[in-house]
Amino acid sequence: MALIPFDDRDGLIWFDGEMVAWRDAKLHVLTHGLHYASAVFEGERAYGGNIFKLEEHTQRLINSAKLLGFDLPYAAAEINDVCKAVLKANNLTDAYVRPIAYRGSEQLAVSAQLTKTHLAVACWPWPNLFGADRMQGVRLGLAEWRRPHPQTAPTASKAAGLYMIGTLAKHAAEAEGFNDALMLTWDGYVGEATGANIFFVIDGKIHSPTPDCFLDGITRRTVISLAKARGYEVIERHITLEDMATATEAFLAGTAAEVTPVRQIGTQDFTPGKITQTLIDDYSALVMMQPEEVAKRAA
Ligand code: PMP
Repeated sequence: MALIPFDDRDGLIWFDGEMVAWRDAKLHVLTHGLHYASAVFEGERAYGGNIFKLEEHTQRLINSAKLLGFDLPYAAAEINDVCKAVLKANNLTDAYVRPIAYRGSEQLAVSAQLTKTHLAVACWPWPNLFGADRMQGVRLGLAEWRRPHPQTAPTASKAAGLYMIGTLAKHAAEAEGFNDALMLTWDGYVGEATGANIFFVIDGKIHSPTPDCFLDGITRRTVISLAKARGYEVIERHITLEDMATATEAFLAGTAAEVTPVRQIGTQDFTPGKITQTLIDDYSALVMMQPEEVAKRAA
């Protein structure tokens, strides 16, 4: 199916305080966020009309902006309401929700003291990042690009600028026939995929890289608590490529990717197994629960 260009769709986008027609949600070409990447965003998923862990996503958006030196002109509760309203306005119950906040076109220079912060929220149907046959396991190429040191970039922020590396890594992987790339950290440990965190099963235990230079994803944390509730031991640590070679199962966790088995990384094969399947099932059940129930389980 041909991709419908993202600027040529029907629907409504909330933009700086009002719902506007999708095709009219435009900004000026001299926008600071475009030139200097002063932009942060979120990726959320609605299931059955509820946005999963909405409060956590909104809080991360606010924190991401703070890490880039700007405050959002809306309170968290207002942003939550906007996300819900956008979903409703587009008559969607199962969708991906994309808030983005950025410095505007009021001033264009590295110094951006006079810029205003803008906020837009869009949503659209987006089944799964890896498509329908993902349950057989996706294939990851090993990226040449690495996650930067936390003193080189604000790595705890979901900052648009950090995705420059992701797009380069993903395109290189796709050129070799892989679904995605696995990026190492600046110091050579296993990091993350371009839009999801990674987990391994080693000797029956679940291992996940310490998120010290990339996002500690909301899905990652959810999967860790689901795994612990099942009685699995979860170990967060620095994982080398040699450690990875001893893993039997591997899977990705992210809002867009959900929980997706991995069947190959570089030249190493994995067999999607029981632990991966259990966590896929538990995650699929959790996202369908009402927000109060989800919050209770996380407590
Ligand atoms: N790492 C990167 C680079 C991502 O883009 C994402 C998706 N936001 C994640 C990890 C996973 O984060 P989350 O589970 O909060 O979606």
